[in-house]
Amino acid sequence: MAQVRAVGSVQEGMAPPAVAEAAGDGRVPDVRTMRHSAAHVMAEAVQELFPDVRLGIGPAIEDGFYYDFELPRPLTPDDLTEIEGRMRRLVQADVPFQRRELDRDAALALFRERGQHYKVELIEDLTSGGERSARDEASDSPDARGIQGGRVSLYRQGAFEDLCGGPHVGRTGEIGPFKLLRSAGAYWRGDEKRPQLQRIYGTAWPSQEELDAYLWRQEEARKRDHRRLGTDLGLFLFSDQVGAGLPIWGEHGALLRSIIEDFWKDEHRKSGYQYVYSPQIGLIDLWKTSGHLSFYRQNMYAPIEMDEQQFMLKPMNCPFHIQVYKRRVRSYRELPVRYNELGTVYRYEPAGTLHGLLRTRGFTQDDSHIFCRPDQLDAEVTGVLDLALRLWRTLGFHEYQIELAVRDPHNLDKYMGADERWAQAEAVLERALQNHQLPFRRAEGEAVFYGPKIDIHLLDALGRKWQCSTIQVDFNLPERFDLNYVGEDGAQHRPFMVHRALLGSLERFIGVLIEHYGGAFPTWLAPVQGIVLPIADRHNDYAATVCRELQDAGLRVDLDDRSERVNAKIRDAQLQKIPYMLVIGDREAEARSAAVRLRSGENLGALPLGEIIERITRENRDRS
Ligand SMILES: [Zn+2]
Ligand SMILES: [Zn+2]
Repeated sequence: MAQVRAVGSVQEGMAPPAVAEAAGDGRVPDVRTMRHSAAHVMAEAVQELFPDVRLGIGPAIEDGFYYDFELPRPLTPDDLTEIEGRMRRLVQADVPFQRRELDRDAALALFRERGQHYKVELIEDLTSGGERSARDEASDSPDARGIQGGRVSLYRQGAFEDLCGGPHVGRTGEIGPFKLLRSAGAYWRGDEKRPQLQRIYGTAWPSQEELDAYLWRQEEARKRDHRRLGTDLGLFLFSDQVGAGLPIWGEHGALLRSIIEDFWKDEHRKSGYQYVYSPQIGLIDLWKTSGHLSFYRQNMYAPIEMDEQQFMLKPMNCPFHIQVYKRRVRSYRELPVRYNELGTVYRYEPAGTLHGLLRTRGFTQDDSHIFCRPDQLDAEVTGVLDLALRLWRTLGFHEYQIELAVRDPHNLDKYMGADERWAQAEAVLERALQNHQLPFRRAEGEAVFYGPKIDIHLLDALGRKWQCSTIQVDFNLPERFDLNYVGEDGAQHRPFMVHRALLGSLERFIGVLIEHYGGAFPTWLAPVQGIVLPIADRHNDYAATVCRELQDAGLRVDLDDRSERVNAKIRDAQLQKIPYMLVIGDREAEARSAAVRLRSGENLGALPLGEIIERITRENRDRS
């Protein structure tokens, strides 16, 4: 059974968290309403099978629904089949959903009598001053939305009645094609100290085609799981002897990473960035000055003591880049300065949230800090977006979901920094997105206290979104470190500071990249671009010559000279997702050529070596 922690810890891009539904009937039933009704029908089926079930909550989620149950024994796959069968009968019975309201005391008496103590807890909690919170999935569930003031609403279908704010479809027959997916453990109210319930996930769609398409996407996502591909393709590994959340890059993953790093460094150099290196640890006072010790300590590793000094492992690179800026007096004429670094940082993450390369405890940010004058901010943000789009598009991502986090206009006191600087920064970020024709959502009140930011999710080949990039204006660190430049007027001025990571971290980005391409990377990124496959042992010598010639031309090519049948070699190369297979037999050896077979299955026939080299070199150059 997979462990599900609090909803807030579910990985982005994976199972999405429950979203609260608006209470109230009278709407056109939408797909979420239908899914929530399916959750009720599932609970009814479970209650038929286990009359003593204790009910948790059962909301609709993106793409489906779940319900949490306390049951006398663990569920088996057969149970899910049985529950699904019972659900089908309940849907066919086509009975109505009926709403009724009780006052608090009557509702408490009813659920107490039925032994539904989780429902009792919710009613007691929310009618005695407890607050709904998105962090507590139960208090924010449609179930709990049935509790409004002193009134409690209930929904019944057939023999099943639940605490619920609705809405629901009119009749069970309106529930579309559905399927139960899996069960997992889930703590009541996401709290590890509370009982662990059994959560059943299901999905329901308006049509069979949509259900089939969804199940296909799920299957495809399983096949593309970067953790499995990471092992199969020799990309990365985790070791119990090293520790959880600390990836080690295997030979192929390291090659892939270095190709991306080289590309990233080149593009940054061309865009006027200066590369710097900074250490892994810094004195504790550095982190006091930066403020990390007060607001980020729970994510930092304990101090290292040496020579009666305390050092801390770096969770961020910013304070180091600030030292580079501060090493001498800066004149307005030398701004902007842009420092970049592939900076490895360490952050403590709870064990339950670690997930392959997507969430680790040590990772390398593609970090940069820009220091500029107020009149340069516009051009700098525009430059960042230009560079970002070039990187994302070249690496294969063409769709984005973007949020602009700005101040809460009704609560301006809680932000630090001068009002006109905030206004300027917000306007600059907004204009830059508009000028790049990037659609975005303006999220009022979602800015952190020290500056507005742009958050960017990349959409992958399956339409899943992954938070990777951030462009953050910072009014805090320039104050804390007293950053200045001498203006044209000879006086001291504060520069603007912008933090930005465009891929996020190399670990997370490459995890996403693996799933995006299903491990079949375009030629320029493929760790092994070609493999030479001699048909018989007598072709090995010429095959070795071919391999060397391609390697000398700068291509990443291997030789498979095992005494295996060539079909087995082709199958293995296919599994390794190598773009070019170069088959060598008698004819090829004689003609100084190779029969080219592509990963797609297409045969290009025998090509002269020069032509093969030219073709792969062109793909490298064009990054296609
Ligand atoms: Zn409900
Ligand atoms: Zn930073």
